[in-house]
Amino acid sequence: MKPIRKFTVRAVVPGSLSALDELAANLRWSWHEPTRRLFEHIDPELWRSSQRDPVAFLGEVDPARLSELAADGGYVEWAERERASLREYLSEPRWFQSLGAETPRTIAYFSPEFGITAALPQYSGGLGILAGDHLKAASDLGVPIVGVGLFYKAGYFSQSISPDGWQQERYPVLDPDGLPLSVLRGADGTPVQVTLALPGDASLHARVWKASVGRITLLMLDTDIPANADELRSVTDRLYGGGGEHRLLQELLLGIGGVRAVRAFTELSGTPAPDVFHMNEGHAGFLGLERIATYIGEGLTFAESLQLVRAGTVFTTHTPVPAGIDRFDRALVERYLSSSLLPGVDPADALALGVEPGADPATSAFNMAVMGLRLAQHANGVSKLHGQVSRRMFGDLWPGFDADEVPITSITNGVHAPTWTDPALLGIAEETLGTGDTEHADWRSPALSDGEFWGVKRRMRLQLVEDARRRLAASWAEQHPGSAVPQWISQVLDPDTLTVGFARRVPTYKRLTLMLQDPERLTAILTNPERPVQLVIAGKSHPADDEGKRLIQQLVQFAQQSELRERIVFLPDYDMGMAEILYPGCDVWLNNPLRPLEACGTSGMKAAMNGALNLSILDGWWAEYAGDDYGWVIPSADSAGDAGERDALEAAALYDVLEHRVAPRYYERDGDGVPAEWVRRVRQTLATLVPELGADRMVREYVERLYRPAAEHASRVIADGARGARELAAWSAKVRAAWPGVHVVHVESGGVEAPHVGDELHLRAHVELDGLAPDDVTVEVVYGRSRSGDVIDAARQAALHPTTDAGAGASTGPALYTGTVVLDRAGAFGYTVRVVPRHPLLLSTAELGLVATAG
Ligand SMILES: *Cc1c(COP(=O)(O)O)cnc(C)c1O
Repeated sequence: MKPIRKFTVRAVVPGSLSALDELAANLRWSWHEPTRRLFEHIDPELWRSSQRDPVAFLGEVDPARLSELAADGGYVEWAERERASLREYLSEPRWFQSLGAETPRTIAYFSPEFGITAALPQYSGGLGILAGDHLKAASDLGVPIVGVGLFYKAGYFSQSISPDGWQQERYPVLDPDGLPLSVLRGADGTPVQVTLALPGDASLHARVWKASVGRITLLMLDTDIPANADELRSVTDRLYGGGGEHRLLQELLLGIGGVRAVRAFTELSGTPAPDVFHMNEGHAGFLGLERIATYIGEGLTFAESLQLVRAGTVFTTHTPVPAGIDRFDRALVERYLSSSLLPGVDPADALALGVEPGADPATSAFNMAVMGLRLAQHANGVSKLHGQVSRRMFGDLWPGFDADEVPITSITNGVHAPTWTDPALLGIAEETLGTGDTEHADWRSPALSDGEFWGVKRRMRLQLVEDARRRLAASWAEQHPGSAVPQWISQVLDPDTLTVGFARRVPTYKRLTLMLQDPERLTAILTNPERPVQLVIAGKSHPADDEGKRLIQQLVQFAQQSELRERIVFLPDYDMGMAEILYPGCDVWLNNPLRPLEACGTSGMKAAMNGALNLSILDGWWAEYAGDDYGWVIPSADSAGDAGERDALEAAALYDVLEHRVAPRYYERDGDGVPAEWVRRVRQTLATLVPELGADRMVREYVERLYRPAAEHASRVIADGARGARELAAWSAKVRAAWPGVHVVHVESGGVEAPHVGDELHLRAHVELDGLAPDDVTVEVVYGRSRSGDVIDAARQAALHPTTDAGAGASTGPALYTGTVVLDRAGAFGYTVRVVPRHPLLLSTAELGLVATAG
């Protein structure tokens, strides 16, 4: 029978064990193994079956067992120790507190999804899990972030697979009362309500859930409250993709409602107001408009407010695939912006921010990434290669500049080691290496023998084998009600066989089925009698993506063949809970995206943290970290004629590496059955690669390279009644108006009749400034090697200086600029002269997208 309503009754924990409630209420348990051990001790079997979620677990534990432990002095003391450790963690100074005064006060981090733990399923994939890892690492480092997201009633979806291999979606509804969340309340105890005005005098209301992620507060807006009209209660029903009206409402709520929620939270808690706003992808872009509206309310113009917002905003782009970016119908956005949603903001000004470069402003789609980049003075991609790709992809926003001058930098993603390292590895590090910091342990130390290490790796592999069998049995039972689970399921996979993992969302570019290019070859590799290989595969397709579902179906049907089904399995419902067991169980992590479409890819990092070697196309993070000890590169066939040929070539390369290099190495054993060379590489990976892959490294980089500069810049433009912002806005308008008349009239050079290294090139450039002052611009020579055609490679710049020409009239005609370049290298040399705007509050030459180049 189906209940019409469900809710969760929370357990009453005996008073002497109140520490358990306090520990369960802070999500630090999701990465703090000592806290988990404390819970596990209560009832290990139930702990596992409740997915290691303390809140659910405490709700189900036998009260008699709790009473027993309440009377057990040793256990009570243990719980108190863990409570004290949590309190200390929450209050002690950490890395950020050692940085001194020039730091941001509060950073508001906006993301449409957060993957903190499987028990709080508010993510669909990499973007969300990265956001979760960002908060956790920020907590560990003491970085004062406030997270802002939505609370989706049904999260993403649960996947099951029909007997014929077709993905099916279910949307189990979450009960926030059964989760470690509390409602944000005002000083008088009533829940804070955030309200957005909608067209037609309607309103959208949201309550605000608070989650504690260690030291970080995560605010999540939820529209499922009685104050809303029925159709608006479902705005936060599910985590969607796509760009329809429902998605637009979610993003308006995230951006605009999110800023309002942060304001309520900081005022109520006495937290300083944010000086930096970080958009994790374009979905939260409306936050900039809400902030502009606030400044307009304080008497500034749109242009001045924009300067204030830009100075303190960081935008991170995550996709090199244009189809991955949210684009809304312009008329739809206009309808919402024309209501009283953003008081004082002229809809035309706001709409202009989302116009795609080169498109007709009247018909252009409203592009959230483009708006994000216009609202943020600080922007980055998520690996070095992705930074390059992004500078090209968004280069049209800065016309006239080469890609390497586009102001988008990169910070390579990282993953949170305490979350993603298997407890067995943590245990062995504590026992033999004397540290609980697996990310920075000396994994090559002789204190840990290869045999012992290999024993731990086998345990993790066995754990995956058992988990896979359990999952497949449960899935069988669900799909074939009433029939017994067949015997073969209890024999799938083997704890001593080379185990290759492949799990990810299933967009086309990730090429889930590349391995099926030559099914016979793959079959031969899997069933090789001396050197067998087993494959564990998982992944969800977006519910609207039938093409992705067809790929899953192909794979499932391939894996169903009776001679292969023990060697290749597809596990339904990939999520963080599965991931925690999958990565440690794998020897090799496979990734074969279509280069360069994988922005970073983090699953391979998590696998490396658990003693797996990577087997991957040189894309995303692997393009900068690949090394012989860390795994193998699958050569890319970038120059292949078409997609089909490229797939065929890259698949053949994959089979070759797997069969001839990976498997022989794995099965090369010493007298004790240990693959010594393999283990050496894995230990080398743990010792030297893993410290680079941590989210702590990533968050430090964000603080040093983006958050601090953003906070400093924001304080400069806001100081003194926003004098900087007003000046910059007025100056930008003046320069933009004059720019069509600015040009380099004529360049003369001397000193290069028969040039040699060491000679000087003397330049005299006549420049029309059309009323701008010499101080408003930089006139510079851009020079470097010029081998092919019309490009200057590795261009360098040198400023030319305003010069009064003896005898020329003072203020009429073009201005003269002169300067010298020393020819310090032999070979083909090229140069040009250009004019760019100059202002002390600009961060990059390209910022205004204005340049006048000679010729
Ligand atoms: C890490 C992770 C991802 C992202 O992996 P990619 O390599 O970026 O595709 C997706 N889902 C889960 C459950 C993960 O743990």
